[in-house]
Amino acid sequence: MILIDGSYGEGGGQILRTSLALSLVTGKPFTISNIRAGRKKPGLMRQHLTAVNAAAEIGKAAIQGNRIGSQAFTFEPETIKPGNYHFAIGSAGSCTLVFQTILPALIVADGPSEIVLEGGTHNPYAPPFDFLEKAFLPVIKRMGPRVDAVLEKPGFYPAGGGRFKVTINPTKLNSIDLLDRGKTVRKIASAVVANLPVKIAHREIKVIKEKLEWNREELRTVEVENSQGPGNILTIEIESEYITEVFTGFGERGVSAEKVANRTAKSVREYLAYDVPVGRYLADQLLIPMAMAGGGKFRTLSPTKHTRTNIDIIKEFLDVDIDMQEYGQNEWEIDIKSA
Ligand code: ATP
Repeated sequence: MILIDGSYGEGGGQILRTSLALSLVTGKPFTISNIRAGRKKPGLMRQHLTAVNAAAEIGKAAIQGNRIGSQAFTFEPETIKPGNYHFAIGSAGSCTLVFQTILPALIVADGPSEIVLEGGTHNPYAPPFDFLEKAFLPVIKRMGPRVDAVLEKPGFYPAGGGRFKVTINPTKLNSIDLLDRGKTVRKIASAVVANLPVKIAHREIKVIKEKLEWNREELRTVEVENSQGPGNILTIEIESEYITEVFTGFGERGVSAEKVANRTAKSVREYLAYDVPVGRYLADQLLIPMAMAGGGKFRTLSPTKHTRTNIDIIKEFLDVDIDMQEYGQNEWEIDIKSA
């Protein structure tokens, strides 16, 4: 039984998602304590509980301690069962994070799956759907598996009510190297509003135009019709020869449109200023598939505490060495090898 301390490092939800994902993949049982001890409201929230239960269903796992607020649980999987699943969070909790928990097992399962997820699709502190579709899943496809995601309805925090569908055709995972970005092929900033004045989107685009000095055809505003609640996001997509990255700003009550746009422009400028293909969030999320493939390398910006924590949890389940080297100021190479 692997023992995981949920208060380690970042002390957040990623520790339990990585543990669940890799417990399914390896068949190794684990017990986690001090769940999300580093957060204001520790323990399992609805989104985490949905992830635990989804993993348990896919892995036919025996489980103890899976209830809201729980600060410890034990998970003993039996198998990986591909098939058709429907997981609804029943709140605006992020369904992309539930997806992040179950995808690693389903891309190496012995049959295809079709998953429907309901809840928040565009939440702060979680991968927004557009990031999954345009940045993360294309890299997974390059590693072998065919994974296609379709957004049926957006669900913005705090109302939620979104829905997306994913089809997964597994294969053996090939290792890949992501060392160069190549030239920028296309860039587009989309300021999206749902049930809010379009003026918010125009204000965000104005800031992006000034700060990034982009042309008119690279800037657009979108009014979403089929959202349950109000929402505003600013999505900036940078398509380069060898990779696409997506940066997102989330509109919040009490935070001006200008501030949202300035923050987003800052992360885009940082990425463009360095010669690396992989941004900080993608770095976080490529570790598991690359470790499962038994190898791979990528170049990225200085690793976050979140990334470092994730590396240590991965090593609890998989026999891999993960080496991080700074080769230039704010330019790092992360090298994953079978131990
Ligand atoms: P907690 O449950 O402890 O409140 P959490 O469950 O939200 O935290 P974190 O541990 O903070 O989880 O992990 C969030 C995940 O969402 C990470 O995988 C991170 O890479 C991803 N993420 C956060 N923001 C973005 C973003 N703007 N774009 C892409 N991915 C993101």
